[in-house]
Amino acid sequence: MEFPKKMSRYCKKCKRHTEHNIKEYKGGRARKMAKGTRKHERNNLGYGGKYQAVAHKKKLNKKPTFSAICNVCGAKKVFTIGKRLKKPQLV
Ligand SMILES: [Zn+2]
Repeated sequence: MEFPKKMSRYCKKCKRHTEHNIKEYKGGRARKMAKGTRKHERNNLGYGGKYQAVAHKKKLNKKPTFSAICNVCGAKKVFTIGKRLKKPQLV
């Protein structure tokens, strides 16, 4: 599915509609020493199975996440479209 590279969106900082550049959002590397990561590791220790349920069937497609950057002030905003897509394309 195709999406525009530039879009007019509301900017909270500018308090009006401005042109935004759209990019595909990529999450950062998970932190090893984050509280949640440490808790998860602690819970998985020893006997007694997994702490969180393991999905046996993987979903084929992902819901894409985009980030919009305001061309006036540079404010970033992350947004999603709640649909599963094979391949989002920025045109
Ligand atoms: Zn702005």
